[in-house]
Amino acid sequence: MNITLDSAPLNRVLPEYLPAEPQSENPPASMARATPQLRATVEQYRATLPAADFAGLIATIRSVFGKYTAKLREFQPGADRGRALHQLMDREMGVVGNMPVACGRGCLGCCHYEVEITSDDAAVLKAVVKAGRGIDHERMAVQAARERQSPEWRKSWSQDNRCVFLGEDGACGIYGDRPSVCRKHVVTTPAAACTTEGAAVASVQVLLAEILLSAALSIEGTEFGSLVKMLLKSLADMAARRAVALGAPSRNAGRSVAARRSPG
Ligand code: SF4
Repeated sequence: MNITLDSAPLNRVLPEYLPAEPQSENPPASMARATPQLRATVEQYRATLPAADFAGLIATIRSVFGKYTAKLREFQPGADRGRALHQLMDREMGVVGNMPVACGRGCLGCCHYEVEITSDDAAVLKAVVKAGRGIDHERMAVQAARERQSPEWRKSWSQDNRCVFLGEDGACGIYGDRPSVCRKHVVTTPAAACTTEGAAVASVQVLLAEILLSAALSIEGTEFGSLVKMLLKSLADMAARRAVALGAPSRNAGRSVAARRSPG
């Protein structure tokens, strides 16, 4: 895997996110949920930069991380924050417009893996499903029954591994609403390599995109998991809330509703 380390996007975003004058800004409490790609990038820099430069870079990453966290916290958890995350992700991924990216409509290699999403991504998908977008329920049941990182996901061309939102034409059926992980995955090797067993694939890592997703994951209450499980959980929560609103018994609401209805 090639890692492209480009400082241009950091320079582009810094004037917006960092104050011109130093100020007492609380650093992010924790970057414990940094993406594996961000960790790998940091380790690369640790190995190659002089100590003082590395310390400066870490300070910058932490500051940008804090700005992203603060920005995302302006939104309510759920679809609103999910869409804000998507907008920010698209903006930061805009830098790949200058690269020879091979990804295009219908190249579906990356839609046969275990895609992991945030609870805010899941809320956006729930809204999409609620609005009438069909899903392959059979495939969803198969994928939902798997453990995280199940070996089944390595059988990349299995029909069972197709994303539940992948259309028969090989295009994403929810492109405008796709999760943040799908937005940040781009390759520069020919698209055919993504569907060829054993072929080398060079994906592009955009540092700001990794900091952004790490910030989103670090917000209290944010969950992260496989697309189908997160979507099912989100839909179940919606069904439970609806049941409560209608006064119908549900696993969670049954006892209190029953208590209200029973005499004495
Ligand atoms: S949501 Fe769309 S882009 Fe993401 S894996 Fe599914 S079909 Fe592919």
